[in-house]
Amino acid sequence: MLRTGAEYLASLQDGRQVYVGGELVDDVTTHPGFAGPAKTVARLFDRSSSDPSLTYVEPETGERTNLNFLRPRSAEDLKLRRRLHTAWADVSNGLFGRSPDHVAAMVTGMACRPEITGNDQYAENLLNYWRHIRDNDLYLSFAVLPPAGSKSGKSSAVQNAMRVIDKGDAGVTVRGFKMLATGGALCDEILVGNAQPLRPGDEAVAISFGIKANHPGVKILSRKPYGAHAVSNIDDPLADYDESDAAIYFDDVVVPWDRIFVLDDPKASYGLFVETPGHTLGNAQAHIRLLAKMRFMLAAAKRLAEALDFIGNPAIQGVFGSLAARVKMLEASVVAQESCPEAWDHGFVSQDRQFMYANSSWSMEYFSEFATEMRRMLASHAFQQPADVSAFDNEYTRKLFLELNRTDDFDVAMERYRLIRLMWAMVGSELASRSNQYELFYAGPPHVTRTRMYDYFDWSSAEAQVDAFLAQTPTVQELAV
Ligand SMILES: Cc1cc2nc3c(=O)[nH]c(=O)nc-3n(C[C@H](O)[C@H](O)[C@H](O)COP(=O)(O)OP(=O)(O)OC[C@H]3O[C@@H](n4cnc5c(N)ncnc54)[C@H](O)[C@@H]3O)c2cc1C
Repeated sequence: MLRTGAEYLASLQDGRQVYVGGELVDDVTTHPGFAGPAKTVARLFDRSSSDPSLTYVEPETGERTNLNFLRPRSAEDLKLRRRLHTAWADVSNGLFGRSPDHVAAMVTGMACRPEITGNDQYAENLLNYWRHIRDNDLYLSFAVLPPAGSKSGKSSAVQNAMRVIDKGDAGVTVRGFKMLATGGALCDEILVGNAQPLRPGDEAVAISFGIKANHPGVKILSRKPYGAHAVSNIDDPLADYDESDAAIYFDDVVVPWDRIFVLDDPKASYGLFVETPGHTLGNAQAHIRLLAKMRFMLAAAKRLAEALDFIGNPAIQGVFGSLAARVKMLEASVVAQESCPEAWDHGFVSQDRQFMYANSSWSMEYFSEFATEMRRMLASHAFQQPADVSAFDNEYTRKLFLELNRTDDFDVAMERYRLIRLMWAMVGSELASRSNQYELFYAGPPHVTRTRMYDYFDWSSAEAQVDAFLAQTPTVQELAV
């Protein structure tokens, strides 16, 4: 089934327990912090349900299905998946990091290698879960980290981390916190697990499962939703693109047995994320989405430089050239990842992990530099503008701001104002800071991402070159002869 935006919005009115501070949100579709972002998600579903080129015929059902759920068997399939990620990233201009195609891609990748669960029944549960989200076109968020204080180095099963407290006929009861579900307030279901290595002794937290956002006992504790503080769409043009983040508290939640993918198994719980194509398919979405975002930011900055009249300066053009080069390098990396697919069991493939981890490693370090370059261009212009758009309603201040913009044309002044507000929203605002933080951590902690690159880089063929070179060089003894 392909869902429409209206169907998605209706499904959100399900009694889920979302807290903003001490407020229990009645209905996320009408709350000022979530209504706009929910409509943006709805646009994604409208985009895919109205365009057959963003679907495939699923062999198991014969039904037209969102490309997001295609288990890839070739480079061509990876390209098809990219088509969907690109179309959705274009809707949010890459500002929704964990759009519904992120976690769904992960589960689809896990379903390419269900035996990683180490248990036939759990493997079947995982496959059935993939079928469930596939056939209902669901939006998943995920919470796969313990909270601070659970990473002392001794054990992850300490203090307040979510853990198993009981097992019974109805299912497995869990209690405690899991971090950090981006989109937690807006999703249909939450994937819970462990994307950080666990150790023997961590069995109590070594559980992976999928749970409905409105399941009894699931508490979604949102950070400040920026849209709730927006003045207007002109002053806060990205208020509808705040995807939200939430800590999840499991208040004695009974997880049904058929939703359990891993239990009491530290190795399999981590392996589900990193030893299946799931990590690669998920990160491919992240990179395709980042490409859309950087292109959008670059183009908005260029339009601003034109409006402020400094685009003609060769030094500024050089800066733009250098930023444009990074955008194209990112695009090249996206294409490279899928052009030499990595083979997995059962005939499935994923993007190449060397390229994928290289991109994660590079982009988490580079994005801040990119955003800083934009801030440099913006200089003091955000602060030269009126406090808000109401200045254009007051005859006197309107006249002053037109004069400041050296124009009699209201539309010209307004376009400049809107571009400056947009740039500030992307690189200077609280939402921008969050976005920067997202790019730093979307693939996990930087030291782990770098280590993965170290682990996957093809050292042996590179080092063989060094050995060959050394073998050609005469030894000291040979030189002496
Ligand atoms: C905006 C945003 C959205 C996110 N969305 C999601 C999501 O949807 N789902 C989800 O599960 N998670 C999500 N995360 C969480 C993300 O995966 C974590 O932030 C990341 O894994 C780091 O964990 P932490 O925040 O608990 O920091 P910590 O693990 O407490 O680390 C704090 C700092 O110390 C450094 N550090 C820690 N240990 C070491 C070490 N041994 N060596 C060197 N440096 C070290 C870290 O790199 C980091 O800089 C999101 C994070 C952000 C910021």
